[in-house]
Amino acid sequence: MAQKPLRIQRLRLEVVLFSCMVLLSCAAQGQGVTPPHHTDTGFKNVHPYKENGLLDFLKWRWERLWKKTPQPEDHCFSLTANDPDFLRRNSTHTTVTWIGHATVLLQVAGKNILTDPVFSKRASPVKWAGPARLVPPGLPLEDLPRIDAVVISHDHYDALDEGSIVRLHDRPGGDETRFFVPLGLKKWFQDRGVSRVTELDWWDQYEMPPLDIIAVPVQHWSKRGLWGRNEHLWAGWVVLGPDFRFFFSGDSGYCPHFKEIGKRLGPFDLAAIPIGAYAPRWFMKDHHVTPEEALQIHLDIGAKKSIGIHWGTFILTDEPLDEPPQRLRKAVEDQGLPPDSFVVLQHGETVILR
Ligand code: ZN
Repeated sequence: MAQKPLRIQRLRLEVVLFSCMVLLSCAAQGQGVTPPHHTDTGFKNVHPYKENGLLDFLKWRWERLWKKTPQPEDHCFSLTANDPDFLRRNSTHTTVTWIGHATVLLQVAGKNILTDPVFSKRASPVKWAGPARLVPPGLPLEDLPRIDAVVISHDHYDALDEGSIVRLHDRPGGDETRFFVPLGLKKWFQDRGVSRVTELDWWDQYEMPPLDIIAVPVQHWSKRGLWGRNEHLWAGWVVLGPDFRFFFSGDSGYCPHFKEIGKRLGPFDLAAIPIGAYAPRWFMKDHHVTPEEALQIHLDIGAKKSIGIHWGTFILTDEPLDEPPQRLRKAVEDQGLPPDSFVVLQHGETVILR
């Protein structure tokens, strides 16, 4: 009779020890699964990648002084007359509109999605300096239809524009818009009064019926001020509809992520892939693709059709302004692909896909 409490005590001790072991093993597993792109202070690329430092930047700017670089007056890009009434009424057709640079309006399954909205006159932290728009937005912000979702690829000024975000949020119905951002950027939005923000890590998925929105890995970097490099993550975005799959790559160097995206989430009905801001290669290679690499991304992800973005709107780099579409056309031809498989649109042009 006197042994019973002893047995109960032993049992209790075993339960406590077992619980401790489970907790310790969970903690160890938790540490083991820290994603390889996470660091103590932010994020990093996972494939071979050269980070440019201040000296690289100064070397590029120095070299620029001695060579012919694109000038605003060089361009002759026209603005296509858009039909905002059609876009506002449309809930059945799948359409894509190139507004300029990386800003694309996708209409799918009755939802309107905007990528990297930049409607301001400059892609810059200040209004009086920095890269100026060559062509006005192909669709003014006031003329946009209701926007259900905005996806942001990273924190650079030509992708995340404070003026545009605040205007999108403050327009009638704008408080219904959901902003999708890579890890670390939620607070930036909350500080500006935007509360419907979903922050996702690579491969995280959010259900917004009938769509699924997924953040995917790309190779880039982040920095908005003088300090704080790579504190916010960068990402591409996939939008999966009931019968339509869309890929928006944001900014990226060419890397193995694209084949993996194709394998896991492809093939895609439509992709928006950067074709500009690639010169000089020694400086841009790991962060921005050439038109030929953009075509390789199109193939890697299994896109049926792609549109070239991230060109013809701001002067950011050294290639001639009209070179990206020319090189793209030749690359498509050299690959023996149909000419309409990877195209560029005019600013403001809408294509009805279905
Ligand atoms: Zn960037």
